[in-house]
Amino acid sequence: MKDNRICGIVRDLLPLYIDGVCSEPSNKLIEKHLTECGECLKIKELLSDKTIEKTVKDEKEGVLSRHAAKERSAAWKAGAVIAGILLIPIIIVAIVTASGHASAGTLLVLIASMGLVAAITVLPLMTKKNRFAKAVLFSTAALLLIELFVCLFFSGDSFPEVAVPTVFGISVAFLPFIMRKADLPEPFSDKKTLIVLAWDTIWLYLTVIVSLWGKSTYLIADGVGVTTVCVILPWAIYAATRIKAAALCKCVRAGIIVLVSGLWVLLAEYQAFVDGVFRWTNNSALNEKLYVLIPALAVIAGAVLIVTGVVRRRNRKN
Ligand SMILES: [Zn+2]
Repeated sequence: MKDNRICGIVRDLLPLYIDGVCSEPSNKLIEKHLTECGECLKIKELLSDKTIEKTVKDEKEGVLSRHAAKERSAAWKAGAVIAGILLIPIIIVAIVTASGHASAGTLLVLIASMGLVAAITVLPLMTKKNRFAKAVLFSTAALLLIELFVCLFFSGDSFPEVAVPTVFGISVAFLPFIMRKADLPEPFSDKKTLIVLAWDTIWLYLTVIVSLWGKSTYLIADGVGVTTVCVILPWAIYAATRIKAAALCKCVRAGIIVLVSGLWVLLAEYQAFVDGVFRWTNNSALNEKLYVLIPALAVIAGAVLIVTGVVRRRNRKN
């Protein structure tokens, strides 16, 4: 026989029961009743499903997502307004061009320039993910377009001569920041430095070759030679930092980098080094002596660091 009075009492107590603040006898009474009464059990499940915390959490998430949505739509509106304003000069020049008072080249350069401004102002407003990378990418594309139109219509320069150094300069300045945030797929995820270094190296060579193109072959060979010497240092330092052997502590690693840098100076200024050594005693000029001193000091400092690292490690083991 069902007793409605117990149902009433149990339902009154259920919120306290769910919060775990009921006394032991009440708990027992409630649990016993819940096994017998399906209606109260249903109410209990409903209540525990929507406890206060959950309600608060739901409410909070709702508010946050509404806020984010509002911000997003505000950004879209701002972006649309800026994009619209950017169109005004393009329309004006288009009209002037159509009336025969300006060349089509001017219009194209202007469109590309507005694209550049848009890449910096509108794009970051309208995108949610990878804003920085996208802004740099689109700015670069717009810049290359401007250069293309200027080269085509106004100047005698060839496009590659202008475009390649542009890509190189932008890469050197921005690629490390883009890569730091980038989520690369598995085989590349731990090779960000390598990718940046390889990319910059390729564009440096291209810059040298493109800017010397059409001049004497000797000049190109010289340029490539000098570039190679310059490129060896960052690659050697990169290689030194990548030696993963457990035997290498920070001290030894620093020693190797100093050593590599010193040997690089020797290699880069090989002739000056030889001259400096042979003319050391004859009052040779200070800068000639520097080409000897820098590699020598680097070798000594590098060796000291490496030995210190090795000794320290051995002591720690004993
Ligand atoms: Zn009941």
